[in-house]
Amino acid sequence: MNRIINYAIINPTLWGFIMKKKLKEITDSIDIELPYKMERDFDIIDISSYKDTEVFEYLKIFTDRIISCVDDEDLTCFYNNINRLKIRTTRNDNSVVRGAYSPRNIIYIGKDYKETIFHELTHLASTKVSVNTIYTGFLQQKNNTIIGRGLNEGYTQLETKRNFSDFNVLDGYGLLSYYCELLEYILGEDFLRKSYYNADLYSVVDELKNIQILMIL
Ligand SMILES: [Zn+2]
Repeated sequence: MNRIINYAIINPTLWGFIMKKKLKEITDSIDIELPYKMERDFDIIDISSYKDTEVFEYLKIFTDRIISCVDDEDLTCFYNNINRLKIRTTRNDNSVVRGAYSPRNIIYIGKDYKETIFHELTHLASTKVSVNTIYTGFLQQKNNTIIGRGLNEGYTQLETKRNFSDFNVLDGYGLLSYYCELLEYILGEDFLRKSYYNADLYSVVDELKNIQILMIL
């Protein structure tokens, strides 16, 4: 018997969002893969090459917190990527880039947006790349096909705000984060966190197939 979860969004206008897009139904025809098992290449975290830069403190804070918030067995992506990280900061006053993480393991930080690095490092901590596919949090990209982009950004921002609530983390992805909070309520916080840091969208979708959700708007 499927687990049945019945919930209501009591006041969808409370957060000031208006749905403009129709949600796409996820069907079995979308090829979501279980990501490959990655070995951890490092026992320690070495960020010493950033010691004389203004992002060093942020890297240290992020490292301390993620190690205390996430199970060690789910930190393989983090260890492998942080030790090979490249950071590019833009000095261009006209730049509109606040921050971005490239799966080539480069973080781009815009001028005056240093705290954006927490969001981008959360992407870094949940990314693994194979020859054909990018797995990053709840996003999978193969050739030009991307699935899970919204879910991934929503959850990344939810984790960032939760772990760095004492910093001026920029608002963004509000509605998507809200959906991820609902998903945590349905699937459990620990399960979703473990899936995210192992870049495992497959298990999330697989688990959702066992649950009948009745949504009352
Ligand atoms: Zn992002």
